Amino acid sequence: MSPSAVVWDSALLAYDMGEQHPFNPVRLHLTMRLATALGVLDDVPLLSPEPAGAKELYRAHSAEYLEAVQQAPMAGWDVGHGLGTEDNPVFTDMHDAASLVVGSTLLGARCIAEGRAQRAVSIAGGHHHAMHDRAAGFCIYNDCSVAISWLLEQGYDRIAYVDTDVHHGDGVQAAFVGDPRVLTVSLHQHPFTLFPGTGYSGEIGIGDGEGGAVNVPLPPNTGDAGWLRAFHAVVPSLLEAFRPQILVTQCGVDSHREDPLADLSLTVDGHRTIYRELRALAERWAEGRWLAVGGGGYQLMRVVPRSWTHLIATVLDHDVTPDAPVPAEWTELVRGMAPSAEVPPTMSDGADAGYSPWGDGLDDAVDAAIRDTRRAVFPLHGLDPDDPRD
Ligand SMILES: [Zn+2]
Repeated sequence: MSPSAVVWDSALLAYDMGEQHPFNPVRLHLTMRLATALGVLDDVPLLSPEPAGAKELYRAHSAEYLEAVQQAPMAGWDVGHGLGTEDNPVFTDMHDAASLVVGSTLLGARCIAEGRAQRAVSIAGGHHHAMHDRAAGFCIYNDCSVAISWLLEQGYDRIAYVDTDVHHGDGVQAAFVGDPRVLTVSLHQHPFTLFPGTGYSGEIGIGDGEGGAVNVPLPPNTGDAGWLRAFHAVVPSLLEAFRPQILVTQCGVDSHREDPLADLSLTVDGHRTIYRELRALAERWAEGRWLAVGGGGYQLMRVVPRSWTHLIATVLDHDVTPDAPVPAEWTELVRGMAPSAEVPPTMSDGADAGYSPWGDGLDDAVDAAIRDTRRAVFPLHGLDPDDPRD
């Protein structure tokens, strides 16, 4: 059995909201080319997805919304459902393109559920803002929610979703907010300062699912050290308490310091460290099962390809060292597209991505966020919010 599955097909590049739109599929193309040039994908078969059908899409979306998406390219300007806006423009064959994204994440989930792989990665997925009845934040269909719903039907009843995108994973949280079988954890830039304006530490779930939504809103400019400090103060304890059977992670890289749409200050080295932590947590607390998807990331050439190459490499246990040179053929590819681009020479930003653990008596703005989140949800999981050992 191959321990890891990589889902990819160039047909996924059809999810294209236009040349001027930040969600440009060139980032996926450049990632796959970089991973290939570095040898990360040597002897790794790429699994080609089928579009998700209506039966699967109904897991996360209403019939009226599906109809609206299918009709939108022919329907003129007033289609509603968040479509035809600056964020979510209507584009040719958008239903097919968005269905294929969902199919990719589902294929990864299927490989794991059927025992064909322990881990799977689909960088085209991670459309975490899409809601039951509307498009939002560049996302048409929510592949994360569909895949989690499908996994529930296969008998998984403890699924942990961890979202490291700079934006709150609001669509996934909304889909499972009352369901005690799904734990959603999102670390993101503070909602007061960024779309979608939700993800406060007090959003903890409802009813039987109380404690099942966890939010860590981080102040603008938080860097690798603060982000990793918050992650370690919140996520491992919750996973230990929840004991998921599978870890699903949305790995958006718009938390990078060069990202044009947000204001956190992580580096490629920080991203690489996050993936290694997620892998270790899946091994330790999720029976080794890890489904990783992409997400946001709008520094198309300098950041996304390197960060997601590290993601794919980590999933495959083909880890790339930070000082690995970026292959010349890839640099030429980028320069051919953008002659003035400053292509980074290595797979690192030169950051050390270290952090000091929470509980050392400091109390800066990141620590305040950590404290608020722990106090809001830790008692609901039998954990002590004020004890750094938890
Ligand atoms: Zn994002």
